[in-house]
Amino acid sequence: MLLSRFPRLHFAHLPTPLEPMDQLSKALGGPRLWVKRDDCTGLAGGGNKTRKLEFLLADALEAKADTIITQGATQSNHVRQTAAIAAKLGLACEILLEDRTGSDDPDYNLNGNVMLDQMMGANLQKVPGGTDMDGAMADLAAELRGQGKNPYVIPGGGSNPIGALGYAHCGLELLYQAVAQDLRIDLVTHATGSAGTQAGLVAGLSATRSGIPVLGYGVRVPREQQETKVYGLACATADLMGCPGAVARDHVTANCDYVGAGYGIPREDTLEAMTLFARYEGLLLDPVYSGKGAAGLIDGIRQGDFDPSMNIVFIHTGGAQALFAYRKAFGFQPYPGSG
Ligand SMILES: *Cc1c(COP(=O)(O)O)cnc(C)c1O
Repeated sequence: MLLSRFPRLHFAHLPTPLEPMDQLSKALGGPRLWVKRDDCTGLAGGGNKTRKLEFLLADALEAKADTIITQGATQSNHVRQTAAIAAKLGLACEILLEDRTGSDDPDYNLNGNVMLDQMMGANLQKVPGGTDMDGAMADLAAELRGQGKNPYVIPGGGSNPIGALGYAHCGLELLYQAVAQDLRIDLVTHATGSAGTQAGLVAGLSATRSGIPVLGYGVRVPREQQETKVYGLACATADLMGCPGAVARDHVTANCDYVGAGYGIPREDTLEAMTLFARYEGLLLDPVYSGKGAAGLIDGIRQGDFDPSMNIVFIHTGGAQALFAYRKAFGFQPYPGSG
């Protein structure tokens, strides 16, 4: 599974730090918690999509693309990171934003990631929730080809086998860090959505026979659907890496009990988890992904699901740029003198 066989650009700030969360571990009285800072990958605020884009953009350049097309929800972090690398490489960037939440809050529709997408020169277009996004991107690609352009389509979240190589690589990076820090990692957890992050991690950690389980916390669809999606992509990624058969069905676990009303809609426990990370560790999570993942992890600790002797690594997948779109969700009061 020599990952250096694959074309790859190098713009992520790697390796991302692996740090203990001592205050939070103490406050929860549970296992020893660690955070892998994939919110610090460096691309216009960073986040987990950057690792995938190193492989995807290398593929796009090999195909001599002049335009990148991708899609996401209004506050997509994947779109922001794609807009950033397209700008840096001098490529046009065409974005379809799906109105998945139906929010009419101007902060949600224009602030946060949307403002940053516009700042980096991406061409945004909104489409209704439930649109066939792959079909819409294919139509847009055909239209651009008709104008003599050479577009490269990146699926939502950058989640295909090429993108997932970025997280197989992250799995190896984590193993190197564990060896260097003499750390026994008992569990890796993170938020799972379009599945590339978990699929890549599972492929990398299974192909190396690390024995480290991965637990994804879902943010959108029910468990069976999420696990099926992750498993399919993990197998395809292992095939691409030259390790067919490395991934077993029981290497894939997703807990989807913390989604709440739907994608992009935080619950009370999402906000509480975000507040605990902020107040005990000075870490900024996001209300769409990492906040829901953290809520699941914290609830699991409180329910006694994890032995206190465990070392658990939470991968911080980023997303804090969306916080400014969710100001109202927190309901903070004006402070003295602020009017
Ligand atoms: C996209 C995203 C995820 C989910 O990663 P997938 O590879 O889509 O499953 C988690 N956290 C944040 C902040 C994200 O932007």
